[in-house]
Amino acid sequence: MMNLGRYPRVSLAHLPTPLERLDGLTKLLNGPEIWIKRDDCTGLSSGGNKTRKLEYLMAEAVAEGADTVITQGATQSNHARQTAAAAAKLGMACHILLEDRTKKTSFEYTENGNVLLDRLHGATIERCAANPDMNGEMEKVAARMRSEGRKVYAIPGGGSNPTGALGYVNAGIELVYQANALNLRVDHVVHATGSAGTQAGLVVGLTGIRSGIPVLGIGVRAPKEKQEENVFALAAKTCDKLDIPGAVKREDIVANCDYVGEGYGFPAPSTIEAIRTLASTDGILLDPVYSGKGMAGLIDLCKKGFFKKGENIVFLHTGGSVGLFGYANDFQSNG
Ligand SMILES: *Cc1c(COP(=O)(O)O)cnc(C)c1O
Repeated sequence: MMNLGRYPRVSLAHLPTPLERLDGLTKLLNGPEIWIKRDDCTGLSSGGNKTRKLEYLMAEAVAEGADTVITQGATQSNHARQTAAAAAKLGMACHILLEDRTKKTSFEYTENGNVLLDRLHGATIERCAANPDMNGEMEKVAARMRSEGRKVYAIPGGGSNPTGALGYVNAGIELVYQANALNLRVDHVVHATGSAGTQAGLVVGLTGIRSGIPVLGIGVRAPKEKQEENVFALAAKTCDKLDIPGAVKREDIVANCDYVGEGYGFPAPSTIEAIRTLASTDGILLDPVYSGKGMAGLIDLCKKGFFKKGENIVFLHTGGSVGLFGYANDFQSNG
């Protein structure tokens, strides 16, 4: 059995997040029953999946006596925005290293959406060109800030390390309790996967309590093999942290990376269509970088019969709708 309670945690999120049936989308697709776990409603600075991770990461920062947190992400990073808000709430300074992964130069992309909120929460921002080792770049900036006398706690991109993943171990357990209370048999969980912490934590949580519920990550960046390896490596480390080494097997980690489109940070036509669909069928906002791609995958897989009538699918909504305001141009054509 897992002993999550031994790790310090600060309260940042509105939990449990709702588990609701997507009546409109279920009717439209006429396939499986589709449910949604509303982790876009975690509360902090308009919510999202990073808040659960930050409950454990920020607790570690507090325990270490940090006065400053630093993190990194793409320009429209939801993780950076939620970190900035968490730091504000806990009275810490926040410094963010934003990577230019898209070369987009519009005001809406570089200053609106998440960037506007980073600044509102009082974070300082530094920008850099695309770099394959962003956590390494961030460590250099952290070293500079330490040399200036700050007590810096560094949070990796996406908050994805074994500490951050604990937030999703907990989410997996939360989901099973909720489904039990509704007498709902969950056949599959589907969500957008990026820096791996969400899927790794979820699989550890769902496996650790022997739920038997499979998870499908819809990739937003890396190819399938690479994404699955990243998630598996983090899941294995998270199992070690919880004293259940080896509990997650390589075959428990499944990603489908067919919905990335042009690349990270570029919504594909299917992404835009999925966002328009859910907004009109159920009044729910997705985002152009992650959850829109996750939903595009779910919709396509339903249409292809991968998920069957009579099955219950839970889409984990990881948040990010603030990013829509950084991508308004992508929605201008066809109405
Ligand atoms: C970060 C993020 C994800 C991906 O979660 P990871 O833990 O990085 O895999 C999905 N959706 C949204 C909206 C995000 O901000």
